[in-house]
Amino acid sequence: GSAGELRRKIARLRGVSEDGVVIGNGSNELIEFLGHVFLRPGLEVVMGAQAFIVYKLVTRLFGATAIEVPMRDFGHDLEAMRAAVTERTRLVFVASPNNPTGIANHEDDLLEFAKSLPDHVIFCLDEAYSEYLERAPDLRLAIEQGCKVVCLRTFSKIYGLGGLRVGYAYGNPGLMALLERVRQPFNVNAVAQAAAAAALDDEAFVVMCRRENELGRELLCRGLSKLGFQTWGGQANFVLSRVGDGTALFEALQKRGLIVRPLAAYGVP
Ligand SMILES: *Cc1c(COP(=O)(O)O)cnc(C)c1O
Repeated sequence: GSAGELRRKIARLRGVSEDGVVIGNGSNELIEFLGHVFLRPGLEVVMGAQAFIVYKLVTRLFGATAIEVPMRDFGHDLEAMRAAVTERTRLVFVASPNNPTGIANHEDDLLEFAKSLPDHVIFCLDEAYSEYLERAPDLRLAIEQGCKVVCLRTFSKIYGLGGLRVGYAYGNPGLMALLERVRQPFNVNAVAQAAAAAALDDEAFVVMCRRENELGRELLCRGLSKLGFQTWGGQANFVLSRVGDGTALFEALQKRGLIVRPLAAYGVP
């Protein structure tokens, strides 16, 4: 139930103590834990307008208010997000690289942002795609200095284990203890734990996926550009492109066996 072996491995890898790690049924479950612990009606959550949609869904689930901050050329505008923080703010979400725009923020900016937040605000850095970066931003410094940072990682993306449902949060132990309070004792099954622990040892697979992904992404971007479509970001395993009517393209491609994601639900149809 406490995923001992996996947590010990993750703690070593991330350079935090074992009680600084919480295992989730996918990192989606950890986002929900954040809602359970910190949200209720009348409180606010700051997020980017084109950020991962689960932040908004969980905010609504707990009756809190989503404050959607316009993005700057589809990247998280940390200054504008800092300015949107009020007395009522409890959580701020930043995904880097972001889903669905593929744009990452720089380590210095994220550290400065973490340090700038008032004490009543938890900063959740969602690192679902960080393994696709050559070098992922490291917020350990901020965590060690006592900033209220919760970092999220998942085995669903570069590790290819989405169907097994394993993710984790790491940060300072006091904060992680709060998330533990709402975790059901057997939230991640033993097979998934064993697979995740084995995946952590298979660094060659991660390196191979990162390289293959990069090559595929470049090919896709070149092709889109030849067709006259502008692309953005591309720091994760997907590319954002302006194609005209996204929903129409989605439907047309699906008939040919290709799945893309239209972004009408994110306010960019
Ligand atoms: C996919 C994704 C997740 C979580 O995926 P899980 O399968 O629940 O671990 C979290 N954040 C972002 C931004 C994602 O794209």
